Amino acid sequence: MLGKSSGFDAVVVGGGLAGLAVATLLARQGKRVQLIERRDKLGGRARSQQHEAGFVLNQGPHALYRGGEAEAVLRLLDVPLPRRVVPGEGSWGFIDQRLHPLPTGILSLLRTPLFKVSDKLTFAKLLATIGSVDAARFDACTVEAWLDEAGLQGVLRQTLLGLFRVSSYAHAPSAMSAGAALRNLQRTSQRGVTYLDGGWQSLVEELSKQAQSLELKHPVEIRYAPVSKLHRGGSSRFRLELSNGDHVDCKAVVLAVGPRVAASILGQPELWTEAVPIHAACLTLGLRRLPRPDRLFALGLDRPLYLSVHSAHAALAPKGAALVHVARYLEPEEGLDAAALRSELEQYVEMVQPGFGEQVWVERFAPNLLVSNWLPKAASYGAAGRPKVEFEPGICLAGDWVGAHGHLLDAALSSAREAAACLQ
Ligand SMILES: Cc1cc2nc3c(=O)[nH]c(=O)nc-3n(C[C@H](O)[C@H](O)[C@H](O)COP(=O)(O)OP(=O)(O)OC[C@H]3O[C@@H](n4cnc5c(N)ncnc54)[C@H](O)[C@@H]3O)c2cc1C
Repeated sequence: MLGKSSGFDAVVVGGGLAGLAVATLLARQGKRVQLIERRDKLGGRARSQQHEAGFVLNQGPHALYRGGEAEAVLRLLDVPLPRRVVPGEGSWGFIDQRLHPLPTGILSLLRTPLFKVSDKLTFAKLLATIGSVDAARFDACTVEAWLDEAGLQGVLRQTLLGLFRVSSYAHAPSAMSAGAALRNLQRTSQRGVTYLDGGWQSLVEELSKQAQSLELKHPVEIRYAPVSKLHRGGSSRFRLELSNGDHVDCKAVVLAVGPRVAASILGQPELWTEAVPIHAACLTLGLRRLPRPDRLFALGLDRPLYLSVHSAHAALAPKGAALVHVARYLEPEEGLDAAALRSELEQYVEMVQPGFGEQVWVERFAPNLLVSNWLPKAASYGAAGRPKVEFEPGICLAGDWVGAHGHLLDAALSSAREAAACLQ
């Protein structure tokens, strides 16, 4: 005998930030909404772990890209955001096993031994003009082809590749759309990024609070169970089957899950098989003390590596201690050797923060975190090739792989807003 739940105006499947945002926006329209999350906690990839020693550990390095869709939707949902951005000064570039000051402005460009004099001139011109490049012209061009067309070789090319990696979180220059990469670089260089006090968990908590606010006519009802199938029909328009045998009837559905789960719930496993996910190997370190406090950010230029001391710019560690995120951007289809990746990351930390091993208080390693469900490929015109938000009347999709706008959380929240508008 199936358990039964009375009908809802809308059911949102998936309790990550996209699901929480769309559920809140629908509830603000006065709708009766149920959000169903398969785990016993909300937040998905944005959840952070609070370590007893006082460190807050995000699932890999998380930075809020300022001035984009995510910020606009978070403001719309009354989520308070700090004004400060992470400063560029004190950044290092890692190349040929050595660290050099990474140019972030004219003064640091003049001083850095990273480039020859002629390269400095080219780089200065690039810095001055990249913001006004019409990225849309390069949506169907790969990052590699764009670099070739711009005539960038050697260290300059490696530096640009490093900057594209850090602003897009992707290491796929022969496939990724240069238009998408340029848009991300333009945004981060003009508006910067913010690390959040209390980690991304603060976004999860704030959005959960808004979703369940008693000021809403119908606060969002939250339920924890995996959804397995969507059926058309039932006492409302749709019926969702849960893996425990229960079902929920509703007039509209938003699938705020990844493409594979969405296709399986829709009973159409052939959908979206072209999605290429972006992964990263991540090492998170809580250090008692930072051996080199002058080295807060180091970007690999000839290797796809990243290190940033997030606690230098947000409340994430106990007083005097440091929370350091280290990552290795993985290529699509890259064979995984977890032990080799961990050792590569530890060697990198040793280069930047020598003697860190004696300071380790907390250490977490994840060899293959899912950063995004959808690499914006040149072959499919960047983000324009992603699935549309409206799947069919009454059924919408939301997440980092949906809709034509933004990347990462920008895409997730932009599609969430579009889904809520579509079901209005
Ligand atoms: C290492 C790393 C670094 C990142 N860095 C950044 C960054 O710097 N900037 C940025 O903007 N973004 C970053 N991101 C991406 C960001 O975390 C996500 O875009 C964001 O959290 C939004 O996720 P979402 O809600 O679309 O998906 P998810 O967080 O994946 O949520 C999907 C939810 O659906 C649930 N679910 C799945 N199947 C079912 C089912 N059958 N039934 C019910 N529920 C189900 C899942 O449990 C999950 O809670 C990073 C991600 C990672 C992993």
